[in-house]
Amino acid sequence: MSEPEALAVSDRSRLRRKRQRGSYDRRVVDAILDEGLVCHVGFVDHGTPFVLPTAYARVGDVVYLHGAPGNHMLSTLAAGCPACLTVTLLDALVLSRAAMHHSMNYRSVVLFGSTTPVLDPEEKRVAVTAVVEHVVPGRGLDARAPTPQELRATAVVSFPIVEGSAKVRTGGPVEEPADLSLPVWAGEVPLRLVAGTPVPDADVPAGLAEPDYLRSRLDRLAAG
Ligand SMILES: Cc1cc2nc3c(=O)[nH]c(=O)nc-3n(C[C@H](O)[C@H](O)[C@H](O)COP(=O)(O)OP(=O)(O)OC[C@H]3O[C@@H](n4cnc5c(N)ncnc54)[C@H](O)[C@@H]3O)c2cc1C
Repeated sequence: MSEPEALAVSDRSRLRRKRQRGSYDRRVVDAILDEGLVCHVGFVDHGTPFVLPTAYARVGDVVYLHGAPGNHMLSTLAAGCPACLTVTLLDALVLSRAAMHHSMNYRSVVLFGSTTPVLDPEEKRVAVTAVVEHVVPGRGLDARAPTPQELRATAVVSFPIVEGSAKVRTGGPVEEPADLSLPVWAGEVPLRLVAGTPVPDADVPAGLAEPDYLRSRLDRLAAG
Protein backbone atom coordinates (compact mmCIF):
# COMPACT_ATOMS: atom_id res chain seq x y z
CA MET A 1 0.00 0.00 0.00
CA SER A 2 1.47 3.41 -0.93
CA GLU A 3 2.02 5.95 1.84
CA PRO A 4 0.04 9.19 1.91
CA GLU A 5 2.11 12.13 0.69
CA ALA A 6 1.21 14.51 3.49
CA LEU A 7 0.20 14.42 7.12
CA ALA A 8 -3.32 15.44 8.07
CA VAL A 9 -3.59 18.87 9.69
CA SER A 10 -6.07 20.15 12.24
CA ASP A 11 -6.12 23.15 14.55
CA ARG A 12 -3.67 21.48 16.96
CA SER A 13 -1.13 20.52 14.29
CA ARG A 14 -1.26 23.66 12.11
CA LEU A 15 2.04 25.53 12.35
CA ARG A 16 1.57 29.16 13.29
CA ARG A 17 4.94 30.51 14.49
CA LYS A 18 7.52 30.61 11.64
CA ARG A 19 5.26 28.43 9.55
CA GLN A 20 7.56 28.87 6.55
CA ARG A 21 9.86 26.42 8.39
CA GLY A 22 7.10 23.85 8.60
CA SER A 23 6.24 20.89 6.44
CA TYR A 24 3.57 18.23 6.36
CA ASP A 25 5.37 16.26 3.64
CA ARG A 26 5.68 12.58 4.55
CA ARG A 27 9.13 12.38 2.95
CA VAL A 28 10.39 15.13 5.27
CA VAL A 29 8.64 13.57 8.26
CA ASP A 30 9.85 10.03 7.51
CA ALA A 31 13.46 11.15 6.95
CA ILE A 32 13.53 12.79 10.40
CA LEU A 33 11.87 9.80 12.07
CA ASP A 34 14.30 7.44 10.37
CA GLU A 35 17.39 9.41 11.40
CA GLY A 36 16.43 10.01 15.03
CA LEU A 37 17.22 7.48 17.72
CA VAL A 38 15.09 8.75 20.60
CA CYS A 39 11.55 10.08 20.63
CA HIS A 40 9.72 11.85 23.43
CA VAL A 41 6.14 10.79 24.12
CA GLY A 42 3.77 13.17 25.86
CA PHE A 43 0.54 12.05 27.50
CA VAL A 44 -1.66 13.00 30.45
CA ASP A 45 -2.55 10.47 33.15
CA HIS A 46 -4.93 11.45 35.96
CA GLY A 47 -4.28 15.11 35.23
CA THR A 48 -0.49 14.87 35.33
CA PRO A 49 1.41 15.50 32.08
CA PHE A 50 4.33 13.14 31.36
CA VAL A 51 6.93 13.46 28.59
CA LEU A 52 9.15 10.40 28.43
CA PRO A 53 12.09 9.60 26.14
CA THR A 54 12.11 6.17 24.52
CA ALA A 55 13.49 4.16 21.60
CA TYR A 56 11.31 3.63 18.55
CA ALA A 57 11.20 2.53 14.94
CA ARG A 58 9.12 3.62 11.98
CA VAL A 59 7.65 0.85 9.84
CA GLY A 60 5.54 2.25 7.00
CA ASP A 61 2.78 4.37 8.48
CA VAL A 62 3.37 3.63 12.18
CA VAL A 63 5.98 4.21 14.87
CA TYR A 64 6.47 1.23 17.17
CA LEU A 65 7.25 1.67 20.86
CA HIS A 66 8.12 -1.23 23.13
CA GLY A 67 8.92 -1.96 26.76
CA ALA A 68 8.07 -3.98 29.83
CA PRO A 69 4.40 -4.98 30.31
CA GLY A 70 4.35 -2.94 33.54
CA ASN A 71 5.57 0.20 31.72
CA HIS A 72 3.33 3.08 32.83
CA MET A 73 3.59 4.98 29.56
CA LEU A 74 2.85 1.96 27.36
CA SER A 75 -0.08 0.75 29.47
CA THR A 76 -1.57 4.26 29.55
CA LEU A 77 -1.19 4.58 25.78
CA ALA A 78 -2.55 1.06 25.20
CA ALA A 79 -5.68 2.06 27.14
CA GLY A 80 -6.38 4.67 24.44
CA CYS A 81 -4.87 7.80 26.01
CA PRO A 82 -4.24 10.46 23.32
CA ALA A 83 -0.55 11.19 22.92
CA CYS A 84 1.97 13.41 21.22
CA LEU A 85 5.26 12.00 19.92
CA THR A 86 8.24 14.19 18.98
CA VAL A 87 11.65 13.56 17.46
CA THR A 88 14.33 16.28 17.38
CA LEU A 89 17.59 16.29 15.43
CA LEU A 90 19.92 19.05 16.56
CA ASP A 91 22.05 20.31 13.64
CA ALA A 92 23.77 23.47 14.87
CA LEU A 93 24.11 26.16 17.50
CA VAL A 94 23.39 29.55 15.98
CA LEU A 95 25.28 32.42 17.60
CA SER A 96 23.92 35.88 16.96
CA ARG A 97 25.49 39.25 17.62
CA ALA A 98 22.49 39.94 19.83
CA ALA A 99 21.70 37.85 22.91
CA MET A 100 18.05 37.67 21.94
CA HIS A 101 18.66 36.26 18.44
CA HIS A 102 20.60 33.14 19.37
CA SER A 103 18.99 30.04 17.96
CA MET A 104 19.52 26.42 16.94
CA ASN A 105 19.28 24.64 13.63
CA TYR A 106 17.11 21.58 13.85
CA ARG A 107 14.79 19.14 12.15
CA SER A 108 11.84 18.09 14.28
CA VAL A 109 8.62 16.14 13.99
CA VAL A 110 5.50 16.36 16.12
CA LEU A 111 2.84 13.65 15.75
CA PHE A 112 -0.57 13.44 17.40
CA GLY A 113 -2.66 10.32 17.82
CA SER A 114 -3.80 7.39 19.87
CA THR A 115 -1.83 4.17 19.82
CA THR A 116 -3.02 0.65 19.10
CA PRO A 117 -1.76 -2.19 21.32
CA VAL A 118 0.13 -4.78 19.27
CA LEU A 119 -0.96 -8.24 20.43
CA ASP A 120 -0.30 -10.40 17.37
CA PRO A 121 3.00 -12.28 18.01
CA GLU A 122 4.15 -11.87 14.39
CA GLU A 123 3.57 -8.09 14.39
CA LYS A 124 5.31 -7.92 17.78
CA ARG A 125 8.30 -9.73 16.32
CA VAL A 126 8.38 -7.32 13.37
CA ALA A 127 8.14 -4.35 15.77
CA VAL A 128 10.88 -5.37 18.20
CA THR A 129 13.18 -6.39 15.34
CA ALA A 130 12.52 -3.02 13.69
CA VAL A 131 13.58 -1.17 16.85
CA VAL A 132 16.89 -3.10 16.84
CA GLU A 133 17.33 -2.57 13.09
CA HIS A 134 16.58 1.14 13.45
CA VAL A 135 19.54 1.57 15.80
CA VAL A 136 22.03 -0.62 13.88
CA PRO A 137 20.78 -1.90 10.49
CA GLY A 138 21.79 -5.55 10.09
CA ARG A 139 21.69 -6.27 13.83
CA GLY A 140 18.15 -7.66 13.74
CA LEU A 141 19.22 -10.64 11.64
CA ASP A 142 22.50 -11.23 13.49
CA ALA A 143 21.26 -11.13 17.08
CA ARG A 144 19.35 -14.13 18.51
CA ALA A 145 15.67 -13.82 17.55
CA PRO A 146 13.18 -13.13 20.35
CA THR A 147 11.55 -16.23 21.83
CA PRO A 148 7.74 -16.51 22.14
CA GLN A 149 8.21 -16.07 25.90
CA GLU A 150 10.25 -12.88 25.38
CA LEU A 151 7.61 -11.54 23.00
CA ARG A 152 4.84 -12.30 25.54
CA ALA A 153 6.87 -10.41 28.14
CA THR A 154 7.12 -7.31 25.93
CA ALA A 155 4.47 -4.64 25.50
CA VAL A 156 4.29 -3.05 22.05
CA VAL A 157 2.10 -0.24 20.76
CA SER A 158 1.88 1.34 17.33
CA PHE A 159 1.58 5.10 16.97
CA PRO A 160 -0.09 6.21 13.71
CA ILE A 161 1.79 8.57 11.39
CA VAL A 162 -1.35 10.36 10.35
CA GLU A 163 -1.55 13.83 11.91
CA GLY A 164 1.30 16.17 12.76
CA SER A 165 4.02 18.34 11.35
CA ALA A 166 7.71 18.77 10.73
CA LYS A 167 9.72 21.94 11.25
CA VAL A 168 13.21 22.65 9.95
CA ARG A 169 15.50 25.58 10.73
CA THR A 170 18.64 26.09 8.66
CA GLY A 171 21.10 28.91 8.14
CA GLY A 172 22.83 31.53 10.19
CA PRO A 173 21.55 34.07 12.70
CA VAL A 174 18.74 36.43 11.80
CA GLU A 175 20.21 39.78 12.81
CA GLU A 176 18.96 43.31 13.32
CA PRO A 177 20.57 45.39 10.52
CA ALA A 178 22.07 47.74 13.12
CA ASP A 179 23.84 44.82 14.84
CA LEU A 180 25.74 43.69 11.72
CA SER A 181 28.56 46.16 12.37
CA LEU A 182 29.08 45.07 16.00
CA PRO A 183 32.53 43.53 16.72
CA VAL A 184 30.90 40.34 18.00
CA TRP A 185 31.54 36.93 16.39
CA ALA A 186 28.43 35.37 14.93
CA GLY A 187 27.74 32.21 12.97
CA GLU A 188 26.83 28.55 13.13
CA VAL A 189 28.45 25.73 15.09
CA PRO A 190 27.49 22.45 13.36
CA LEU A 191 26.61 19.60 15.71
CA ARG A 192 26.33 15.90 15.01
CA LEU A 193 26.18 12.56 16.79
CA VAL A 194 29.65 10.99 16.99
CA ALA A 195 30.24 7.31 17.82
CA GLY A 196 33.23 6.31 19.92
CA THR A 197 35.36 3.21 19.38
CA PRO A 198 33.31 0.05 20.07
CA VAL A 199 34.28 -1.74 23.31
CA PRO A 200 33.72 -5.53 23.11
CA ASP A 201 31.85 -7.09 26.01
CA ALA A 202 34.03 -9.17 28.34
CA ASP A 203 32.58 -12.51 27.10
CA VAL A 204 33.08 -11.86 23.38
CA PRO A 205 35.41 -14.68 22.20
CA ALA A 206 38.92 -13.57 21.29
CA GLY A 207 39.21 -13.11 17.56
CA LEU A 208 35.49 -12.45 16.97
CA ALA A 209 35.62 -9.29 14.88
CA GLU A 210 33.12 -6.47 14.83
CA PRO A 211 30.44 -7.24 12.25
CA ASP A 212 30.57 -5.44 8.90
CA TYR A 213 27.15 -3.89 9.46
CA LEU A 214 28.47 -2.20 12.64
CA ARG A 215 31.40 -0.78 10.68
CA SER A 216 28.90 0.51 8.06
CA ARG A 217 26.81 2.14 10.79
CA LEU A 218 29.88 3.81 12.29
CA ASP A 219 30.99 4.99 8.84
CA ARG A 220 27.57 6.55 8.22
CA LEU A 221 27.68 8.34 11.59
CA ALA A 222 31.22 9.57 10.86
CA ALA A 223 30.07 10.90 7.48
CA GLY A 224 27.42 12.97 9.28
C1 LIG B 1 16.08 22.28 19.25
C2 LIG B 1 14.97 23.29 19.20
C3 LIG B 1 15.10 24.50 19.89
C4 LIG B 1 14.08 25.44 19.86
N1 LIG B 1 14.21 26.58 20.60
C5 LIG B 1 13.18 27.47 20.65
C6 LIG B 1 13.24 28.62 21.51
O1 LIG B 1 14.18 28.82 22.26
N2 LIG B 1 12.19 29.47 21.51
C7 LIG B 1 11.10 29.26 20.70
O2 LIG B 1 10.16 30.08 20.73
N3 LIG B 1 11.03 28.19 19.89
C8 LIG B 1 12.02 27.29 19.85
N4 LIG B 1 11.94 26.19 19.05
C9 LIG B 1 10.76 26.08 18.17
C10 LIG B 1 9.59 25.47 18.96
O3 LIG B 1 9.64 24.04 18.79
C11 LIG B 1 8.23 25.96 18.45
O4 LIG B 1 8.11 25.69 17.06
C12 LIG B 1 8.04 27.45 18.67
O5 LIG B 1 8.32 27.78 20.04
C13 LIG B 1 6.63 27.88 18.36
O6 LIG B 1 5.78 27.37 19.38
P1 LIG B 1 4.23 27.61 19.26
O7 LIG B 1 3.60 26.91 20.42
O8 LIG B 1 3.93 29.06 19.05
O9 LIG B 1 3.95 26.80 17.90
P2 LIG B 1 2.73 26.77 16.97
O10 LIG B 1 3.20 27.15 15.61
O11 LIG B 1 1.54 27.47 17.55
O12 LIG B 1 2.44 25.21 17.00
C14 LIG B 1 1.30 24.68 16.36
C15 LIG B 1 1.63 23.30 15.89
O13 LIG B 1 2.73 23.38 14.99
C16 LIG B 1 3.53 22.23 15.10
N5 LIG B 1 4.90 22.57 15.58
C17 LIG B 1 5.29 23.58 16.38
N6 LIG B 1 6.61 23.52 16.60
C18 LIG B 1 7.06 22.43 15.94
C19 LIG B 1 8.33 21.85 15.81
N7 LIG B 1 9.44 22.35 16.39
N8 LIG B 1 8.44 20.72 15.06
C20 LIG B 1 7.36 20.18 14.46
N9 LIG B 1 6.14 20.70 14.54
C21 LIG B 1 5.99 21.82 15.29
C22 LIG B 1 2.85 21.32 16.13
O14 LIG B 1 1.99 20.45 15.45
C23 LIG B 1 2.10 22.34 16.96
O15 LIG B 1 1.06 21.76 17.69
C24 LIG B 1 12.91 25.22 19.07
C25 LIG B 1 12.80 24.02 18.38
C26 LIG B 1 13.80 23.05 18.46
C27 LIG B 1 13.60 21.75 17.73
